[in-house]
Amino acid sequence: MTEAGPAPARVLAAGSAWGRVNLLGEHTDYNDGYVLPTVVPLCTIVELAASPDGRYHARSATLSEQAVFDGPDAKTSGFARYLAGCLRALAERGIAVPPVSIAIRSSVPIGSGLSSSAALEVAFLRAVRGLLGLAIDELEIARIAHRAESEHVGVHVGIMDQMASSLGAPGRMLFIDTRSLHFEQLPLPRNCAVLVVDSNHPRNLSDTPYNLRREECRIAARMLGVPALRDVRRIASVSALPAPYSKRARHVVQENHRVLEARTAEAARFGLLMNASHASLRDDFEVSIPALDALVQAMQRQPGVHGARLTGAGFGGACVALVDSTELATARAGTLADYAAAGYRGTAIT
Ligand code: ADP
Ligand code: MG
Repeated sequence: MTEAGPAPARVLAAGSAWGRVNLLGEHTDYNDGYVLPTVVPLCTIVELAASPDGRYHARSATLSEQAVFDGPDAKTSGFARYLAGCLRALAERGIAVPPVSIAIRSSVPIGSGLSSSAALEVAFLRAVRGLLGLAIDELEIARIAHRAESEHVGVHVGIMDQMASSLGAPGRMLFIDTRSLHFEQLPLPRNCAVLVVDSNHPRNLSDTPYNLRREECRIAARMLGVPALRDVRRIASVSALPAPYSKRARHVVQENHRVLEARTAEAARFGLLMNASHASLRDDFEVSIPALDALVQAMQRQPGVHGARLTGAGFGGACVALVDSTELATARAGTLADYAAAGYRGTAIT
């Protein structure tokens, strides 16, 4: 096996998948709400080769780690959990994958809010689809990947990451109604590019209050007597909730409105909606940290930037800005310089 994977002649099937960045609609997906992600030009590639010994072998060039396990139900740790989780979700649908050697390489940064986990699952499932000649479409791939991560890995994420990775396309944004799974490919606002900068504050969903926020949203919905916060019709009813539920619910309700408006918004308005989203994530949902606030401010200050916000679950990871295409390079350089002047070191991703 080479550094990057098995020798090409041994590859039986391969799959790849994009990382994604969410433009608007944060923490709305597990509230049955709306999201608006796009893909970033970074991807994960998974190659499958015959197993040498009847066990599943996995090797990540990105992490320089290897794992060996016996099947979908085997006890796994680290990155192998995502692969075993996919095998298990497939097994639940009656699809048995024979033991294989799985080689992974990726340019999607891990733990930066660009959904390296979904890219891994989707790339792996696409490779398995090729290997077995399965008749499953991209939405089905997303559903299986989502089940793998939420049920078998145990990170209760919404389905946005997996759908964005499997159904997204460069230069387009993907509107998703996470309740019906209705989705639409939409053009980005005219003459716009997407700037993504990593704050270099890594986060891991299982270490953050992500599951706590989900629980707070569930409680808020129950107090309001609705199936999910997506169903709140009157924002006034939210103000009557006790803290912190009123703030959490207000974020979700208003964020859903922002996404619906952004689908057809011009660049300037889209940018204002992104700025409002960041303020709400910082003040009401309380998932920002000083480094993310500094990075967003640095982005918002640059000429040509229409708006910026943290993206992903929060507590670290990347920030995203909508930028006039002609100003992308200067906005990127200016953001990195201003973020450095605030005492941090960022990494440009797009
Ligand atoms: P992200 O926001 O990047 O999705 P998560 O915490 O959800 O962050 O998932 C990151 C985890 O996904 C990693 O810790 C690792 O277990 C797995 N993973 C993602 N990409 C790779 C890769 N290229 N190789 C191995 N494991 C990966
Ligand atoms: Mg993830």
